[in-house]
Amino acid sequence: MADKTLFEKIRDREIPAEILHEDEWCLAFRDISPQAPVHVLVVPRKAIPRIGAATEEDVEILGRLMLAAGEVARRLGVAEDGFRLAINHGRNGGETVPHLHVHLLGGRALGWPPG
Ligand code: AMP
Repeated sequence: MADKTLFEKIRDREIPAEILHEDEWCLAFRDISPQAPVHVLVVPRKAIPRIGAATEEDVEILGRLMLAAGEVARRLGVAEDGFRLAINHGRNGGETVPHLHVHLLGGRALGWPPG
């Protein structure tokens, strides 16, 4: 069996994280190196490597990630002022952990376009 990804180890409580949400499809926890006052990662339980590797089979998981991100944003109080969801794919996208994750960033005005 392939080695677990970092986020599978967080899912399995082998590495500590501040987990804010967990359900049948995904979990959400605070980013270890926050880039905004609220910076949460929403991660599928299944180790899909990156968004471009997702398939038709993953369609429910992808929808659930978005719904969970919105729910966490509301719960953390950033929905009214606004927030951003970002998914980094590959080298140019800035991906460093090969396990699909949605960044939820909020609590300050975010620049556009991103760097
Ligand atoms: P990306 O660069 O899009 O692949 O995002 C990976 C994110 O994972 C970065 O924002 C990291 O700060 C975050 N990260 C790395 N290790 C941990 C960890 N142990 N717990 C929480 N977040 C982490």
